[in-house]
Amino acid sequence: MPDRILLYEGKAKIIYATENPEIVLAEFKDDATAFNALKRGTISGKGAINCQISQVLFQYLEQCSIATHWIDCPSLNQMRVKKVKILPLEVVVRNIAAGSLCQQTGLPLGEVLVRPLVEFYYKNDALGDPLLTRDRLLLLKLATENQIDQLKKLALECDRYLSEFFSNCNLTLVDFKLEFGIDGKSQLLLADEISPDTCRLWDNLETDPQNRVMDKDRFRQDLGKVENAYQQVLERVLAQKNPTRNREKK
Ligand code: UDP
Repeated sequence: MPDRILLYEGKAKIIYATENPEIVLAEFKDDATAFNALKRGTISGKGAINCQISQVLFQYLEQCSIATHWIDCPSLNQMRVKKVKILPLEVVVRNIAAGSLCQQTGLPLGEVLVRPLVEFYYKNDALGDPLLTRDRLLLLKLATENQIDQLKKLALECDRYLSEFFSNCNLTLVDFKLEFGIDGKSQLLLADEISPDTCRLWDNLETDPQNRVMDKDRFRQDLGKVENAYQQVLERVLAQKNPTRNREKK
């Protein structure tokens, strides 16, 4: 095989060119970072786990008529995706108060929000990914009025579908981050990944506030058993995707 052309290396993925200029290959890494890359480490097996979880969730969202960049997965930690220009925005949806929402507003951890909250953050490491207002998004020309409305609507639809999916896995979707891109035909596509790196997921079978954490907060807060939690999420997601096959196995 000829040497692959590396297009971009990020914190969690490497992007390679393919023979088709409209398709790129995303390779998911085991590297983990938190707090704007101040904390670094490795979560063994994370690349393959997050790639598989993302594949199931992208396929599921496609079935729910949400357009995504996903094409297929040639190996456990590689995903072929439609080439898009990623908007420099993190679209965060919150159902329950956690993380920066608690730190910045004083809301107690675990408070159920009356309605889902959609927030936009500027993807800019040098500035520390600041929270943006609608007017700042327009000021910086990061999105048009129409795109902001479209992103918010899509984010809320994803929240509804993903919350239901995870609920069937006995997991609560506390909050999550989405990224979107624009393809060659000017279509807005859901991109990046959906995984325990980008979602807060609490185990409905656990009441202890530390034991219930099934996501990257285990790494951020040094709670231990990080790999176990990621593996457990993968197993539940795969079982939910394929409930009959799973029943037959037992
Ligand atoms: N998130 C992410 N990447 C980021 C920042 C946040 O995937 O660069 C996710 C995070 O995992 C959580 C949600 O977005 O599910 C909300 O994160 P928050 O703003 O609370 O920031 P944090 O407390 O994680 O720094």
